[in-house]
Amino acid sequence: MKIDYKKLGQQAIEIKANSYAPYSGYKVGCALLAKSGKVYVGVNVENAIYKSTCAEITALNTAITEGEREFVALAVSGGDGSAFALPCGLCRQILYEHNPDLEIVSITNDKAIQVKILKDLLPYAFTL
Ligand code: ZN
Repeated sequence: MKIDYKKLGQQAIEIKANSYAPYSGYKVGCALLAKSGKVYVGVNVENAIYKSTCAEITALNTAITEGEREFVALAVSGGDGSAFALPCGLCRQILYEHNPDLEIVSITNDKAIQVKILKDLLPYAFTL
């Protein structure tokens, strides 16, 4: 599958506006591309009891709910968009279960793109 990194990244940037991050102030948007070709977006959702949900998990859970099981790429935009954002350790572990070769596409507001392979970001992942 040919992945349009800029298009996927742009979706991450745009959805970030819907982030609910009144505590950290660090907004995150992501766009998860399933093997089916559908894209599932997500934002981080914080709350007063500090049991927040990462944008990646919001997108993943929506996709799983819709019946998706295979994923090829995840674009992430975080903070003010000036630097490449990457999924946190928890998200790396959760995403790893679905595809260790998932392409992690970080995009800045200037549309600079960085692509990493998930298994390179999480050596020695926990597996059963
Ligand atoms: Zn996370």
